[in-house]
Amino acid sequence: DLSPVPPASVPEEVRPLIIAFNDMMARLEENLQAQQRFIADAAHQMRTPLTGLKMQTDLALHETDPEQLRQSLAHIAESTDRAAHLINQLLSLARAEASFEKLYAVEPVDLGAVVREVALELFPRAQTKSIDLGAEGGEGELLVEGNAVLLRELVKNLVDNAIKYTPRGGHVTVRTRFAGSPVLEIEDSGLGIPDADRERVFERFYRVLGSGVDGSGLGLPIVREIAELHRATVTLDANPAGQGTLARVVFPRSHLQLPPAVQGDVYP
Ligand code: ADP
Repeated sequence: DLSPVPPASVPEEVRPLIIAFNDMMARLEENLQAQQRFIADAAHQMRTPLTGLKMQTDLALHETDPEQLRQSLAHIAESTDRAAHLINQLLSLARAEASFEKLYAVEPVDLGAVVREVALELFPRAQTKSIDLGAEGGEGELLVEGNAVLLRELVKNLVDNAIKYTPRGGHVTVRTRFAGSPVLEIEDSGLGIPDADRERVFERFYRVLGSGVDGSGLGLPIVREIAELHRATVTLDANPAGQGTLARVVFPRSHLQLPPAVQGDVYP
């Protein structure tokens, strides 16, 4: 019997124990249901690219014209990339969800350096869309306590989204600064996120309709998971500078931070 209140016949001393036990069981049950839902959703999401691949392969098998065949194979390669991306994102999410302390070393991470690395990596992608990608905030100035691999993934997902949802010729700025505690901001001049979707985009597989861009709907859930592991908060707001989105991650203040006066000099 998992009813939260023990029956009257139960002795007074054991009642708190029973209540605590029932509460624990209810939470386990909830967790299990969430896991099952996730597996069902993930399998469903995988079916779409696989169905596409199967159809394209069948078509290619019957193609006699060499140029048509080459095009079919190019489609197949694209679909395979998409399926691989989805699997990678699923793995990322599972990895981020696994116990932080057990799997990953926690160390001082130079947030500015992580931003530079990600910006360098994504620069070619921005260039193909003529997007002006800039990074503000130097290296060695802002340390957060955490895991470099996971933090890199967090930054990459946010910058990747900013580029993905910004039309050609727009701009994306990645900024690290100290405002009482370490802050990471990614500002884009893109499509923006409708108010009604602002929280829902953090749900697994949720995507805003009509963006016309490919994706898994797992990037932001990964970002939130990693942020929570670092006791940081993530918010998405309308870009105050005009069109687009401002993603902000606020990290907790830790003993790693320099005194505010020094930080103030570094970040005017
Ligand atoms: P994906 O990008 O693979 O769809 P995400 O979880 O990263 O998955 O994002 C969920 C949705 O949130 C996206 O489909 C998109 O509609 C919206 N979104 C995320 N980032 C931005 C952004 N910078 N600008 C506009 N829309 C965004």
